[in-house]
Amino acid sequence: MALFINEDCIACDACVSECPNTAIYSPDEEWSYADGTNLSGEVTLLDGTTVDADEMNEALSDEFTFIVANKCTECKGFNDEPACVDVCPTDAIHVNEDLGEDEDTLLKKKELLHG
Ligand code: SF4
Repeated sequence: MALFINEDCIACDACVSECPNTAIYSPDEEWSYADGTNLSGEVTLLDGTTVDADEMNEALSDEFTFIVANKCTECKGFNDEPACVDVCPTDAIHVNEDLGEDEDTLLKKKELLHG
C-alpha cells in the first residue's frame, strides 16, 4: 500500500529527501509525475488513467508534508522498509490500507515510474 502523512506532521520535511520515487513534497509545493522518475509526456497509470507526466499539479496540502500515492511504492524495489517512516520524528507516516495494493502492484508501479 502507498503511505500517507497524517495531521501529526510538523512539516519538518525530514522525509522528503529519503524518497526514491520523489513522492513526498513540502506543504504547498506543486508536484509532477516526472519529478525524480523516468516519466515524461502522456503516461497511462496502473488504474488506466492517462496523465501528462510533465504537468505541475496543485499541492495536496498547504499545511502538512504530503505523499503522492500514485508515486509511492512503499519503497519496493529500493529498500526493505519504507525509508520515510524511520526519519519521521512524530510517527506521522502510515500505510494507507484503503488502497489495497499488494507487493506485485507496488513493483509494477515502480517499473512504471522508473522503467
Ligand atoms: Fe517514498 Fe518509500 Fe515513503 Fe513511499 S514509502 S513515500 S516510496 S520513501
